[in-house]
Amino acid sequence: MPDALLSIQGLDVHYRGIRAVRAIDLHIHEGEHVTLIGANGAGKTSTLKAITGLVPVAGGDIRYAGRSILALPAHERLRQGIAMVPEGRGIFARMSVLDNLKAGAYLRPDKHRVADEIEGLFSFFPRLRERLSQTAGLLSGGEQQMLALARALLSRPRLLLLDEPSMGLSPIMVDTIFRIIGELCRNDMTLLLVEQNAQLALEATERAYVMDSGEINLSGSSSTLLQHDLVRATYLGE
Ligand code: ATP
Repeated sequence: MPDALLSIQGLDVHYRGIRAVRAIDLHIHEGEHVTLIGANGAGKTSTLKAITGLVPVAGGDIRYAGRSILALPAHERLRQGIAMVPEGRGIFARMSVLDNLKAGAYLRPDKHRVADEIEGLFSFFPRLRERLSQTAGLLSGGEQQMLALARALLSRPRLLLLDEPSMGLSPIMVDTIFRIIGELCRNDMTLLLVEQNAQLALEATERAYVMDSGEINLSGSSSTLLQHDLVRATYLGE
């Protein structure tokens, strides 16, 4: 087996005395699709933020493409292909849809390709084509989620981190977002998906980790975890 694209060892994240992430190990190989589930406050977002460089790491190591990235600032990690769609989407509300999309390609050296790629993305996100000149803050929640995802894709990620993409969306929009996630998986995007909707997330990915109180207490294939008593009782409401 080749080295993992992302390899986390003994990661700790602390906030003024709160041990949000406690010595977790997690790895993702290129082309893998992995879910991280856990209750509110389990430490999932903190884990994603540690990977992208948005919170300081108190212990352990994060290796990406064979090297420790702990010393790299967030923009350098993005330049190296680690993109995150944050919880709450993080779009630029006052900018147009088109300008939000262009911002996704901000760090790319090959800007001349971006217009064609935006055009290509409309096959995934036809709604965005209809709304290109609209102020992004006026989009619906689902459209904003699509915009955030499209913007992240325009950075040409090698590793895509999605934090709660279905949060606050109507069932139809959740279906749409998961259809798009399915397409990304078929196109070999390497994905780490944090989701409250454990059923959909486990169905969309091959492998998963379960986090509780800052620790990973279960991991395995998504199909096995879908049948696991603890997962069924705690996260699938059975
Ligand atoms: P949710 O599903 O509710 O988003 P989560 O699993 O993503 O939860 P985190 O957001 O990583 O969990 O939070 C883990 C713990 O760290 C929680 O107890 C939270 O209150 C705390 N925490 C998160 N961010 C900060 C911060 N900036 N300052 C202090 N404490 C924080």
